[in-house]
Amino acid sequence: MRLSQLATSIPPSATVKLNATARLLKQQGEPVIHMGVGEPQNQAPEAAIQAGIEVLQKGYIKYAPTPGLPGLRNAIVQYTEEVYGRPIAPDNVIVSVGAKHALFNLLYALLDPGDEAIILAPYWVSYPEMVRMVRGRPVIVNPPPGEYLPTLEAIERAVTPATRLIIVNNPNNPSGLTYPEEFIASLVDFCERRQIFYLSDDIYHQLVFDGQQPPNVYQYTSRPVNDSYVLVINGISKLFGMTGFRVGWVVAPKPIVDVLTTIQSQSTTCNPVVDQVAAEAALREAKEDVVRLRTYLEENRNAVLVELAATPAIKTPKPGGAFYCFPDFSAFQQDSVALSSFLLEKALVVTVPGKEFGLEGHLRLSFCGPREEMIEGVRRIRWALDPATPPEIVIGNKTVVRDWL
Ligand code: PMP
Repeated sequence: MRLSQLATSIPPSATVKLNATARLLKQQGEPVIHMGVGEPQNQAPEAAIQAGIEVLQKGYIKYAPTPGLPGLRNAIVQYTEEVYGRPIAPDNVIVSVGAKHALFNLLYALLDPGDEAIILAPYWVSYPEMVRMVRGRPVIVNPPPGEYLPTLEAIERAVTPATRLIIVNNPNNPSGLTYPEEFIASLVDFCERRQIFYLSDDIYHQLVFDGQQPPNVYQYTSRPVNDSYVLVINGISKLFGMTGFRVGWVVAPKPIVDVLTTIQSQSTTCNPVVDQVAAEAALREAKEDVVRLRTYLEENRNAVLVELAATPAIKTPKPGGAFYCFPDFSAFQQDSVALSSFLLEKALVVTVPGKEFGLEGHLRLSFCGPREEMIEGVRRIRWALDPATPPEIVIGNKTVVRDWL
């Protein structure tokens, strides 16, 4: 393939273009508010930083065992027992370069070309792309109009003899919704009966609000981990706001972990040792950091919801977790890419078009940034769309007058 062909065969997504425009505007000194990012703005836990420094100071930093350092794998075993109440062994765990890599390896291992993976809309942008990258076929199941969770009947109808797995992300990116317990219970039961893998992307699982317990998929299966269709993906990125450390993992039956280890040994070899040691310290010692982050995010969610509700035509399902909300803006504009570009141009607010998550008419707003900025971001969006708001607004040090409504 020629280089010129390669460049056009992988067109950048609308989000990549929007982010590039936002970066440019920011460089030009414009007061851009970013409600597009998927990472909390907190400092990494002190315990993780100290552990990383200690390793660096020893200066002896070499390859680690492919499935992960024993200390980290043991910490994940303990975490799984404490948080999920499920006894597992170190050889049910493999550590990868973030949950994203963990998921990619899993899809690579489980899908042969042409195999189908069921994805529930709205979905995290990477799921269909990853399935395609391993030559599988993403099968998207949409929710009924106005809802954010497909029905079990629709999921069951989408299953064919080629279906190998269903990906479930709870709490959900982009909606922030947590799935009802009965839904999870029925879906796990269905998967076990039909011998389909249930991939539970738990990356946000402890970031749940209103006193909810973290969703626990193991609650709905009595099968031991080594004989289970439930495969759990998790990591430290969101839980501890440690996105840059790149540590994620899979909990799976040992034969699957063995295959994943072979795949990893021929690609990345292992995770960086400093990252693994920092992750172990976070898992063992930074429980308070999780509580602090969860409280912060819940208060941000409340503030952003109040501000959004001031324009009743914006309909926002209440997020039960994660740090996103997914308002329905279809009363203003059905084309989410056009709306997102418009809001960046007029209001200097970055959002992510719903189209990227398989649901037009919506935008994903991330509320993990500084609270005042998040509130200000929604105010600017309302000003740009809602004729009931005053036509003048101050953005940065300029007074701007709305002349398009
Ligand atoms: N799953 C979901 C649903 C996510 O939103 C993300 C990150 N945006 C990931 C997985 C990947 O996380 P990591 O940083 O551990 O690769």
